[in-house]
This record gives sequence, structure tokens and C-alpha cells, in this order.
Amino acid sequence: MKKNGNHEEYRKRLKDKKRIVVKIGSSSLQHPETGDLDYTKLDVLVRELCDMRNRGKDVVLVTSGAIAVGKKAVHLREFGQAGERAIAEKQACAAVGQARLMMTYQKIFAEYNQVAAQILMTKNTIVDNLNRYNAHNTFSELFKLGVIPIVNENDTVATYEIEFGDNDSLSAIVAALVEADLLILLSDIDGLYTDDPRKNKDARFIRIVEELSEELMEMGKPSTGSDVGTGGMNTKLIAAKIATSSHIDMVIANSKDIKVLHRILDGQDIGTLFVGSRDAYFDLPGFVEQMHS
Ligand code: GLU
Repeated sequence: MKKNGNHEEYRKRLKDKKRIVVKIGSSSLQHPETGDLDYTKLDVLVRELCDMRNRGKDVVLVTSGAIAVGKKAVHLREFGQAGERAIAEKQACAAVGQARLMMTYQKIFAEYNQVAAQILMTKNTIVDNLNRYNAHNTFSELFKLGVIPIVNENDTVATYEIEFGDNDSLSAIVAALVEADLLILLSDIDGLYTDDPRKNKDARFIRIVEELSEELMEMGKPSTGSDVGTGGMNTKLIAAKIATSSHIDMVIANSKDIKVLHRILDGQDIGTLFVGSRDAYFDLPGFVEQMHS
């Protein structure tokens, strides 16, 4: 399709997507008042994903929340200041929280007669050729079996050298690894704006990005204003870079109504759509290796 092709056409193409990765962040899964899990939202999320399966799609969920859920479970108010102890605290919380999170997901997926699996990844899963090959095969097998893989970073063992650091990038990396054709980032913001809409009332909403220019990449802001999760607009633009370079369309949409998922797949104009193109020179393991270095 030509550049500047019409937006409606691009949106309509989303109906035919076959393999879809959905990412949800910690702040979208918790009640803001208490930090406890929002079961209503989780239920809607799982129902939407199961319904995608019922439409015959392959589905992957990339979910955050391990650290936040674990922190709640062990009644930890604050993490210590930077340093080894703070890292160990977070990793301990992730160990507790990841198991709890999966238990909750398993329970709800089972209610809809779907089987879910857990895949925890570090950078090594992508950078190391054998690990990447094995991970790819595992995903393929799970799709064949009709299972929904639930992915998170392996926060319990991932320290600086081997961590992705945020699940926006991780979800795009997973999408590229499994050769998905659509990535949907559910976030606490409607999509991409020309500036931070919380600070600048003249900020304009961007409905479609056909080409990720340097200028756009610069627009990423360090934070979305939420204090949980790590994904500001910057990480979402990095995710867009990875996804679109791998020929994967990506949509950022607001998680306040998770039912947008099936509407996006119906081709409705929701959130910001980044149109995938193919960059023959894009090297996923190379890109991942230099992240954060
Ligand atoms: N992997 C982290 C967790 O599950 C969250 C990272 C992120 O929110 O981007 O707690």
C-alpha cells in the first residue's frame, strides 16, 4: 500500500490479523486507590482474549504486575533506595507476585475453557541463538496446541545486564519473535499526542503513524505520570520501532475500557495505529543486545 494510503483502509486490514500480541501494564491492572488487582478488568481482559481465540486467532498476552502484586502480598510499603538490597527486594516481590498473578489468570482462563501457559524471558532469550530458537519453537508449539502464552520478564533473575526493563519493548520483541501481525499496547493513555496532554492542552492526538520519523521518536516523554510500571511514551515508541520494522502493525489504546480490543479487531478507529513496514536490515538480536547499553 502506498504511503498516505487512507486510514480507513489500514484500519480495515486489522480485521484479517491472525496472530495478535496484547500487552497490559501494571497500572491498568490495579485499583489506583489501593494498588490491589482490579478483578473486573482482569475478567474483561481474559474474556476478550478468549474471544479472540474463539475467532480463530493466535493470541499472546504480555502482562506486567509481578512486582506490584508481590509488593502488596508481602505488605511492603516502599522499596529501599537504589542498591543491591532494593534490587533483591524487587526480585523477591516478583517471585511472589508472578505466581499470584498467574494463579489469578489461570483461574479466569479456565472459566472460559482456555489453557494458558507462562513464559518468562530475559534478554538472553533473544540474544542467544539457541535460546531464541528454542523460545520460538515453544511459542509455535503452544499456538498449535491452541494455548494462550502469558509472557513477562523474568524479574526474579533479570538484573541490569540481562533485563529488558519494560514490558512495552518486551511485547514488541515477543511480537517479532513469534511473527505476529498485530501488537496492541493497552495503556493509561489514549495513544500518541504531539505533546503530553496532561501538561499541554494544545497537544493534538495522532490517529495514525505511517512512518516513524526521527522527529516522532524524539517526542517520547520519560513518564506517563503513573508511578507503577515502567512504560512512558518513550518505551512505546521503541516498541513501535521494533514492531513496525518487523512488519507488524501496532495500536496504542486506553485500557480504561478493555473491550476496545474486539473493536480494534473490528477495524474501528481507536487509539493510535502505527503501520508496519518491513525493514530488511532490522536485526532483532542485535537491537536487543544494545538496549540500555
Ligand atoms: N515486569 C515488571 C512486572 O511484571 C513490569 C515492567 C513494566 O511494567 O514495564 O512487574
